[in-house]
Amino acid sequence: MLQYPKNVVIVTHFKPDADALGSSLGLYWFLKRKGHNVKVITPSDYPTFLEWMPGNEEVLALKPNNKKVSEQANKTIENADIIFCLDFSRLSRINDVEESVGASKAVKVIIDHHLNPENFASYSIHDSSSASTAGLVYGLIKQMKETHHIDSNIATCLYAGLMTDTGSFRHSNTRSEEFIIAAELFKFGANPSLIAKLIYDTNTIERLRLIGYVLHEKLVIIPELHTAYMIITDDELRKLGSQTGDSEGIVNYGLSIEGIKLSVLLHEKKDEIKLSFRSTGDFSVNDLANQYFDGGGHKNAAGGTSKDTLENTLQKLLAILTKFAPQLKN
Ligand code: 5GP
Ligand code: MN
Repeated sequence: MLQYPKNVVIVTHFKPDADALGSSLGLYWFLKRKGHNVKVITPSDYPTFLEWMPGNEEVLALKPNNKKVSEQANKTIENADIIFCLDFSRLSRINDVEESVGASKAVKVIIDHHLNPENFASYSIHDSSSASTAGLVYGLIKQMKETHHIDSNIATCLYAGLMTDTGSFRHSNTRSEEFIIAAELFKFGANPSLIAKLIYDTNTIERLRLIGYVLHEKLVIIPELHTAYMIITDDELRKLGSQTGDSEGIVNYGLSIEGIKLSVLLHEKKDEIKLSFRSTGDFSVNDLANQYFDGGGHKNAAGGTSKDTLENTLQKLLAILTKFAPQLKN
């Protein structure tokens, strides 16, 4: 399939995180080295702390109300021979390019690790036991016996995805395989301390103040359910001068409190509420997000949406938590 130069599109999910963008750019550099004509398309913008990644300038990122970029993306998708779908396996995750990717006659290849995949591709490299999509891209290159093509650009992008999706090798999705991949990427030129610095220690003062504000004013604890939740609105973010990605990761602070098993962030946006869930142990937020909030993800990290009002969404969430009380209490 990849023997001759092809027009390849790599698409990843809406509001890409470091694994989405890192796995896409890692694959991008690899396929370019193999002589293909490659374009990475993201259905939205992404946080500035990812813009340092090699290849960032080449990404076609859709913007709201920018018809020219959308047209260019749709045209590129239309002309593709192969479309790689990275770090998602449900078409609804790619928003404004869902229609063109869905309708495309190109060979579609999913590379992903999320639970409950949809079957829309001709080929699928899907493994929910892998902590990152970046690790799956590395596994593919290894399986093709092409690791000699891995340069520091590829290693850096893939390492960034692996590092963030394992929470810097702290989450329970970290297996011995993740450490082995990390060690091999290190040897191929990834610089762990530099990558960690570029992702975690490039906060703006506005983001730090946002974290301080949310933790001080917005964090609610329900001790008997071992649950923490926080509500933020677009209005508040605007007032605090926040940018895309500034609220990312804040939900994890809830889980850092001793005894907390479930942390939820409700983010009120213009026409919907985005929910982020994190859990520890056996409590599956994938099931919760999937059953009640039209979402999903992984067992201990998932997201969903609500089209209802903030008040009703919170009431719904609290009612659901009461239902899950037996699991949350012990
Ligand atoms: P986050 O809370 O950081 O936005 O997302 C946590 C995990 O859940 C990520 O792996 C992300 O891809 C997934 N996720 C977030 N939102 C959604 C959603 O609306 N639907 C699905 N299926 N997965 C989501
Ligand atoms: Mn991922």
